[in-house]
Amino acid sequence: MEHRFFVGGKDILGDEIVLSGENAAHAAVLRLAVGEEITLCDGNAVDYHCVVTGLSKADVRVNILYKLENIAEPPVAITLFQALPKAGKMDEVIEKCTQLGVSGIVPVVTTRCVAKASDRDCKKMDRWQKIALSAARQSQRGRIPKIGDVMSLEGALKGMGAYDAAFVCYEAEEVLSLKAYLQGLAHGLASIAFFIGPEGGFAQDEIAKFKENGISTVSLGPRILRTELAGPVVLANILYELEGLS
Ligand code: SAM
Repeated sequence: MEHRFFVGGKDILGDEIVLSGENAAHAAVLRLAVGEEITLCDGNAVDYHCVVTGLSKADVRVNILYKLENIAEPPVAITLFQALPKAGKMDEVIEKCTQLGVSGIVPVVTTRCVAKASDRDCKKMDRWQKIALSAARQSQRGRIPKIGDVMSLEGALKGMGAYDAAFVCYEAEEVLSLKAYLQGLAHGLASIAFFIGPEGGFAQDEIAKFKENGISTVSLGPRILRTELAGPVVLANILYELEGLS
């Protein structure tokens, strides 16, 4: 499999592209050689298949051979609103959900979050975005999921109008299964948002807020999943239901 790099669309001006900065450092780690073929993705689901023509400490020169549409992007943009889990688990959520096709992950502070203040500062955001980049490279994605700024639940709920559909995973839900919810969705949706609670779950008043905002409570079945597993499970099910082989 060709090594993959993400570049900005503005970097692709002619047939020759110069990789510098973090991409040049990544190329050095990979010990790229002149003549080797690599893929550059513009982050907007277009892949440029290139050949390395020159290497230096500072940059890597490549020539474009041809370009293709990236087929690894899901047909619907899925955003996970993840209640901040205990330290370290967010890394796992980002890594696995990126491989599964998530478009964005928004960390949310809810009543029962035990995450320390340090989990909410911007250094963590940079680290989380780097994890998303690395997982997007590895999984041959056409886009890098955006890790949003930490939000309050109220703030997140205010933005739900931007999505075609939104639901919250609630283990005490006894009627609506994820399967029934997804099969009830209109065809051709462009965006879906869903919420996963922290280790202690959502508080009752938070569930009431979801319902007041018209957000469906959905069950993932009779077993209680860990917070870091629930998001990937939902993504896999959404893609099972909505994604064919393009
Ligand atoms: N209240 C749970 C308990 O009794 O242990 C703890 C919450 S669970 C560890 C973390 C989150 O994963 C929940 O807030 C929910 O969003 C999701 N989740 C886990 N299992 C679920 C299920 N069977 N149905 C719906 N959501 C589930």
